Amino acid sequence: MRDFTLLKYQELLYTIQKSRCLIRTFADVCESGVSMPAFVLRHDVDRRPGNALRMARIEQIMGVKASYYFRIVKGSYDPDIICRIHEMGHEIGYHYEDLSLAKGDMQKARETFVTHLNQLRTLVPVKTITMQGSPLSAFDNRKILEYLNFGDLEILGEPYLLMKPAIWDYFTDTGRRWNGDRVNRRDKLSQMIKHKVVHTNDLIRVIDEKELKAHVMLNIHPERWDDNWLPWIKQLVWQNVKNPVKYFLFRS
Ligand SMILES: [Zn+2]
Repeated sequence: MRDFTLLKYQELLYTIQKSRCLIRTFADVCESGVSMPAFVLRHDVDRRPGNALRMARIEQIMGVKASYYFRIVKGSYDPDIICRIHEMGHEIGYHYEDLSLAKGDMQKARETFVTHLNQLRTLVPVKTITMQGSPLSAFDNRKILEYLNFGDLEILGEPYLLMKPAIWDYFTDTGRRWNGDRVNRRDKLSQMIKHKVVHTNDLIRVIDEKELKAHVMLNIHPERWDDNWLPWIKQLVWQNVKNPVKYFLFRS
């Protein structure tokens, strides 16, 4: 059985609901705090926004609200899809990479950050942001956080700043396996090794057996989840080309 299909995703959502986890958007967590439990479905839409739309529709049918983060670049930014996902009741956030786009020029990056945020806000409300990892870029996009005033910009939060590993479990499907973040040098929040989660079935098991903390974030990239055979194979080939490069960078 193939993993990372939309059918498998529905099984994952069903398990989360069945275990009575409180599914909340990230903006909701920022607004109401971490005194309540939270299970956050975060989607970084790096590319293929059509996949995000399909995933959003499945969640809507299952009565689940998630947080979708869009990049400003072609290939992710799709105004029509962004509006449709927002209308389904999901949260939309900004997946920022302004420092990479400005090739390290912080002054320029701060300016474009505001422009891009406002551009997205002409479509939908935006309360939270996540960093685009750009693992092959020389610039760490998170550095811009030191120069942004969240209050002035009306930003409620960034998972990197809010999530303390002591109270959060964090899983990402990077590399199309749930422990793939070892190949991403900028994504070190993970507690996955402890839980030995590789396949979605492993994740389903730890949720089912209530082995996780009261706060969980799943970082799910819609482009990695597909029921069509061909795009899935293309993704896998692309992953296999990319992973050794990223792994090398991580080690070095
Ligand atoms: Zn990303």
